[in-house]
Amino acid sequence: VEFLQKLPKAELHAHLNGSIPLHLLQELANEYYQASSNDRTATVLPEVVRSGIQTLQDGIQLSDCHEFFALFPAIYALTSNPPALRRAARAVLEHFLSDSDGHPQAAYLELRSTPRETAAMTRRQYVETVLDEVEQYPPERAALIVSLDRRMDAGAAAECIECAISLRNAGRRIVGVDLCGEIKAGNMADFEQHFRRAKEAGLKVTLHIAEVAESPEDETLLLLSFKPDRLGHATYLNEAAKKIVHTYEIPIELCLSSNLITKTVPTLDAHHIRYYLGHNHPIAICTDDILPFRNSLLGEYALLMAQPPLGLGLTEAEIEKVAKMGMECRFL
Ligand code: IMP
Repeated sequence: VEFLQKLPKAELHAHLNGSIPLHLLQELANEYYQASSNDRTATVLPEVVRSGIQTLQDGIQLSDCHEFFALFPAIYALTSNPPALRRAARAVLEHFLSDSDGHPQAAYLELRSTPRETAAMTRRQYVETVLDEVEQYPPERAALIVSLDRRMDAGAAAECIECAISLRNAGRRIVGVDLCGEIKAGNMADFEQHFRRAKEAGLKVTLHIAEVAESPEDETLLLLSFKPDRLGHATYLNEAAKKIVHTYEIPIELCLSSNLITKTVPTLDAHHIRYYLGHNHPIAICTDDILPFRNSLLGEYALLMAQPPLGLGLTEAEIEKVAKMGMECRFL
């Protein structure tokens, strides 16, 4: 464990609202229950919030990955104003970066989040609130990626991109943009212009891609034509897609526990990490959403080390190489 703790690790794929420590979620939920009795503007029914938070507290059991996205409305109800969002961002950064008990989970964190417009804040205020917390850490430790949700309409997506560009131009610490969200939603051709605009403005691009076996092959190739700088998951690439990924050496953000719990991959043995390791392709080991998955970056690295069938049985030298690849994939 000491070997893994000391290893400088980069966390490059962590969604803010999926990474809120459970103790803070409980605190925010209690405050929400107290306030919601008088709140007539709430967009999510208190019963939905209550059952969603209960599920997260009890521990999730998913029958497939689509159920996973249904957890977020309850979390969102608790982080829908700047003070609550600020506390969430602070706690997530602290979880990954605080070294109060010896070694931080991550030497460097690229946190990502989808700007949300609510009754209490604009998308720009959302991003500024998260950035205020990210920038409490030095640039070599933390940065922000702005996510576009596949369900967004053109106006919302354009607003997020313009907000990311203008804040970055104002010297704020945004390093890239991401595409995430419900796996089957949206028409990806509509997003091309937004990622092109982001790249032209000097932002890096990472895309969730081919997460499930049914992900359409033409959609995967279309997303690759956006010339992403990294990819999230990339679980089901066909030969043509693999060729592009290898030719351009596009690093892959891999989230082992996430894929197993959401059942996009049946077993660790069948995980595509073996393919990428076998091809000496750049990868970064990441957590995705520690709140529902109850995992940690250290735990993900422990999976690399543990002997099969529990883990992949990599040697210390191999794990060191993986951690180094992760650090080299930073957008910083
Ligand atoms: P947020 O962007 O900070 O609000 O983090 C939560 C959001 O991240 C969710 O609503 C999803 O859109 C997205 N997300 C989290 N995990 C995954 C995943 O595994 N695949 C695709 N999207 C995800």
